[in-house]
Amino acid sequence: MPSFELLINGKMVPGAASLDVIDPATETLAGTCSRASMSQLDEAVEAARAAFPAWAATSIGERRAAIERISDIAAENAEELGAILTREQGKPLAEGIGEVHGFAVFSKRLASMDLPVEILEDSEKRRVESHRAPLGVVAAIIPWNYPLILLAYKLPGALLAGNTLVVKPAPTTPLATLRLAELVKDVLPPGVLNVIADDNDLGAALTSHPGVRKVSFTGSSATGAKVMASGAETLKRVSLEMGGNDAALVLGDVDPKVVAPELFAAAFRNNGQICIALKRLYAHDSIYDELCDELAAIAKETKFGPGTEEGVALGPLQNRAQYEKVQAILADARDKGKVIAGGGVPEGPGYFIEPTIVRDVAEGARIVDEEQFGPILPVIRYSDANEALDRINDCPHGLGGSVWSGDAEHAHQLAMRLDAGTVWVNQHADVDPAIPFTGSKQSGIGTELGQEGLLEFTQQRILNIARKESGG
Ligand code: NAD
Repeated sequence: MPSFELLINGKMVPGAASLDVIDPATETLAGTCSRASMSQLDEAVEAARAAFPAWAATSIGERRAAIERISDIAAENAEELGAILTREQGKPLAEGIGEVHGFAVFSKRLASMDLPVEILEDSEKRRVESHRAPLGVVAAIIPWNYPLILLAYKLPGALLAGNTLVVKPAPTTPLATLRLAELVKDVLPPGVLNVIADDNDLGAALTSHPGVRKVSFTGSSATGAKVMASGAETLKRVSLEMGGNDAALVLGDVDPKVVAPELFAAAFRNNGQICIALKRLYAHDSIYDELCDELAAIAKETKFGPGTEEGVALGPLQNRAQYEKVQAILADARDKGKVIAGGGVPEGPGYFIEPTIVRDVAEGARIVDEEQFGPILPVIRYSDANEALDRINDCPHGLGGSVWSGDAEHAHQLAMRLDAGTVWVNQHADVDPAIPFTGSKQSGIGTELGQEGLLEFTQQRILNIARKESGG
């Protein structure tokens, strides 16, 4: 049985206190892990600071090899780590194991990137080079929906660029991350990677810590705003990947039977707990009824239950607070729209809500205006695509969005007007480590993944060399 201790300065150490982690499918104990004190947080940052100069001085090839080894170790232990993820996060076991492989694939792909020196000018007067130096200690703060995939958005880039890391998983899902830390701890010099767990009480101290140079945060917009404020005093670099309320604009020229399964998957995967899940579906009047019926039929036949059960497609909500929030949104949706599938909240144990489709609903209902982050999809009627786009864009979030049509040219034109970091055409939520991921408005500041994401873990250093003989 793993100890789920903290990784500080190359060693697994017991926390000053412990933290009980609840299995959301049974409401019993999924495991107990160490919980860091404020002084252990300081130790982790200090270890990362001390390790930084030597790590930054290694070649990018050495760092790449270390990340590749971490990727391999994750893949070799995917069954164990995946089972832990299912226990603490709730997702079906195949998806838990899949998430570990996702961590491995993303890490390896991101580790293959490079930071070449750019020659900006090479003239008789001067030679100007653009280098990419590491920043120092990076704090990585992770939410509870994809503990390992979202770690892979941060760990490979931060380490490849030569930074050292202090990682803090969410308090309801720290176990897989701590176990992974234990498995990989000897791959890196002590202090290069530190992992601490908290009970939602160390985020502010970590993001305001004078020893931290950059915060790479994924979580809610409300917490992202706090991260930005607490980093302000020491002018930290921040990357904030936050909430979304992604809309799909479905035109009248699609076949509802063909698109319904894809739209359903985009909305309900991981029980809707994905930042780029489809959260508002705008369907054209001419296909509205048929699309609603198709979606309702899929929802009714989708099996939900404990992630350990055979054939289960959707698990529970991840934690009690989210379960209660989604129930309140569901109650409001009942008042303001018509539930045509699901809508039930089974007797416990477990934070389960039936996959739910709500029709005849519009802006003004919580299910349309807020990020539900749960298994409920509102289907909203429109008749004019331009007017629908205005309604879609009238939203504080802008993470992703999609346009669905048989007319590629028309879809492309509409997609260009959707105010979001990523707009998909005839698909939704396709992510790839080589493709930059960013959000507009209150969904994001900065970029993760792709070459742009890697650059965000660096400081640009311009070398401007005079061509004179001796500088005189
Ligand atoms: P959250 O903001 O409550 O917590 C995220 C992390 O921040 C946790 O580790 C938490 O302990 C930590 N934290 C809490 N208070 C803090 C503080 N004051 N300073 C620093 N860190 C603090 O979010 P959540 O409820 O865990 O996750 C759900 C949200 O995350 C949703 O809104 C979802 O859309 C968003 N999300 C965004 C992306 C993305 O890439 N854009 C990906 C996944 C999830």
